[in-house]
Amino acid sequence: MKPFSYVRATNQNTAIQGVANRQSAKFIAGGTNLIDLMKVEVAQPDRLVDITQLPLSEIEINSDGLRIGALVRNSDLAYHPEVRSHYPLLSQAILAGASPQLRNMATVGGNLMQRTRCYYFMDIAAPCNKRDPGVGCAAIEGYNRIHAIFGASDKCIATHPSDMCVGLAALDARVRVAGSNGDRTIPIADFHRLPGDIPERDTVLEQDELIVAIDLPNSPFAKNYHYLKVRDRASYAFALVSVAAALEIENGTIKAARIALGGVAHKPWRALVAEDILVGAKPIQETFTAAATATIREAKPYRHNQFKVEMAKRAIVRALINATEKS
Ligand SMILES: Cc1cc2nc3c(=O)[nH]c(=O)nc-3n(C[C@H](O)[C@H](O)[C@H](O)COP(=O)(O)OP(=O)(O)OC[C@H]3O[C@@H](n4cnc5c(N)ncnc54)[C@H](O)[C@@H]3O)c2cc1C
Ligand code: SF4
Repeated sequence: MKPFSYVRATNQNTAIQGVANRQSAKFIAGGTNLIDLMKVEVAQPDRLVDITQLPLSEIEINSDGLRIGALVRNSDLAYHPEVRSHYPLLSQAILAGASPQLRNMATVGGNLMQRTRCYYFMDIAAPCNKRDPGVGCAAIEGYNRIHAIFGASDKCIATHPSDMCVGLAALDARVRVAGSNGDRTIPIADFHRLPGDIPERDTVLEQDELIVAIDLPNSPFAKNYHYLKVRDRASYAFALVSVAAALEIENGTIKAARIALGGVAHKPWRALVAEDILVGAKPIQETFTAAATATIREAKPYRHNQFKVEMAKRAIVRALINATEKS
């Protein structure tokens, strides 16, 4: 590990000023991703600004929904009574991720900012445009079993690893951030980027922007929901494919539908085409199969991950069946 300095921020402004104009400075929260990357020299910050003392650990209920502080631990969020009763899809998605020990340390802000698990990204001997822009991508012609089938580019085909973010995408969360140039709110759909020509940038956050909270709007999806995660083993492992499915069903018809996929793209992938097919239709297997089939028409697999296309289709259908059977 390379030497670095460490400061503990006492308020939001000192945190932001601590990283402003220093490309190599980083916030640190739970440390479960950043420290791992520093140990293998994928991340080499020259300064760590510890934000864990900032007052961002509250979950507040308001008339619009829920505001979740950026330092709320993943476990505390998943088990919060309001989340369990009104946003159970989010609870299920978080509990599908990592291990209990990791969830006890990992924060909401850190989960949003965690980096890809592409094995070439984690191996500093391999060429990787995300780690070292312009050197090429070892995964495109390499072993790309865990990689993207949607929205990739000829510069990077990595996937975003978070489960929590797939749940947040289905629930139309908004990310509140603060920086040297003021505050802004970013819809979750716009927060993570597709790789395009600048795969080194995972999100639209500026270097000196701090995530302060997530806003969740009031949700009609507390009854019919399911988070399905397909992975290589039952114990903790990242998703090959995951599906967050949420339905609002009234008088035997689907009034609103949300489908987001994980493990298939550089960001949580909202299946808008599936949602269009579902709304106004009957919640039956034929409808679900039509929605899933339309979604995977856009898929572009690589040599070793063609299996993900059929897997995504079946996972969407199964998640929707499970969501329907919940009520
Ligand atoms: C073995 C293992 C298995 C895992 N399995 C899963 C899994 O199955 N599913 C899953 O979703 N996750 C999984 N994880 C990832 C885990 O969820 C993340 O490591 C965790 O969410 C990161 O949170 P953290 O608070 O520890 O972030 P940190 O490591 O502290 O920070 C991560 C990044 O976020 C930035 N950051 C942190 N807070 C803020 C903020 N408020 N504003 C701006 N930037 C910020 C940091 O600068 C850093 O770049 C796994 C991790 C491990 C080690
Ligand atoms: S897929 Fe992306 S992260 Fe993986 S090697 Fe290629 S450029 Fe790097």
